[in-house]
Amino acid sequence: MKIQEADAKQLLRAEGLPVPPWSVARSVKEAVTAAEGYLADGSGAVVIKAQVLVGGRGKAGGVKLARSRDEAETAANAILGMSIKGITVRKVLVGPAADIVKEFYLGAILDRASRRIVVMASAEGGVEIEEVAKRDPSAIHREAAHPLLGLADWQARKLAFGIGLAGPHLKSFVLIAKGLVSTMLHNDADLVEINPLAIVRERDADGNTVERVVALDAKIVLDDSGLPRHPGLEALRDLDEEDPADIEARIHDLSFIRLDGTIGCMVNGAGLAMTTMDLVKRAGGEPANFLDIGGGARADKVAAAMRLILADAKVQAILVNIFGGITRGDEVARGLIEARAIQDREVPMVVRIVGTNAEEAGALLRDARFETAATLDEAAEKAVAAARAVGGAA
Ligand code: GDP
Ligand code: MN
Repeated sequence: MKIQEADAKQLLRAEGLPVPPWSVARSVKEAVTAAEGYLADGSGAVVIKAQVLVGGRGKAGGVKLARSRDEAETAANAILGMSIKGITVRKVLVGPAADIVKEFYLGAILDRASRRIVVMASAEGGVEIEEVAKRDPSAIHREAAHPLLGLADWQARKLAFGIGLAGPHLKSFVLIAKGLVSTMLHNDADLVEINPLAIVRERDADGNTVERVVALDAKIVLDDSGLPRHPGLEALRDLDEEDPADIEARIHDLSFIRLDGTIGCMVNGAGLAMTTMDLVKRAGGEPANFLDIGGGARADKVAAAMRLILADAKVQAILVNIFGGITRGDEVARGLIEARAIQDREVPMVVRIVGTNAEEAGALLRDARFETAATLDEAAEKAVAAARAVGGAA
């Protein structure tokens, strides 16, 4: 699960990392009020940033500086409501604009190959790290954190030297790099990224110019499987930006992944769902989704799964493959009948149910004039043929 920059900054701050102040505004009026506050506090300018769960906001015009109340109003007006990579901007972050001396990249990822948290740093900050990795992999410095001891000071210093950071900034960089690892651990994150981490120029209380290292941007991806351990983080889910199908699937506890094909699949068990997809492909079709309704699914869950499949306009035939163990075949049949009664789209469906209460299921389905199949091969072939007849699968 991705979280918004403002929420990610909150998590970084909770680990003691230096993050400039910010406010979140949902309207131009709120943005202007926040900007006035920072300008009155002595900031020469404010930065206004789109809060959307995609990168490259700067390039897309979603990050603007404003030197006055009126400029802030113009900027907020331009950003709120704009579309970035297909996502409408509904909120902005407002904060004092940083006077940037130099930008760096600093990120931590869960590296599955080495089974460690790996911290990456690059002197090429502010640009997308994937581009840097492609152009010049040697520009990215890496250190793997020890699973129990975390990132050692010497490792953090090595990263700092690698990106040309020395002198007065070394100490804060070490704390930030180590803080990135603890942010990963404390929140069960898959990725924590600060891009740019920046040396900024500020004035201290005596009016002297000082330099500081701060996180100007923050991106965090949380491990969905870790969320039950963090109820507070679950609350950061931004439903505005989530695919409605994903929301629906989560509510009904269905494992659903949309694919590109035309054959909708409803199966119980992840392994059987994968096998079903393989057989659809072997029969010459393409699955429209992976869907595991889980063990013991009742009629209402089956109906919800059917709604999800039918909501995909590409679906031209549906293959239901149920192996009744804990799941009762007759319950699934009832769910299918219930779902078809309320569906607004007529799509051919082939049902194969074996195992617990398969006979009752068969009788119910025959009465309701469903197309059934005895074997999985037969079911896959029938579903692919039905989709072809509709004009889909080539
Ligand atoms: P992203 O494009 O979505 O990654 O958004 P960022 O927050 O990283 O902003 C993009 C770029 O805008 C940064 O790399 C900076 O160059 C610039 N930027 C962001 N915040 C400030 C700021 O406070 N002051 C100045 N001068 N530039 C900023
Ligand atoms: Mn960025």
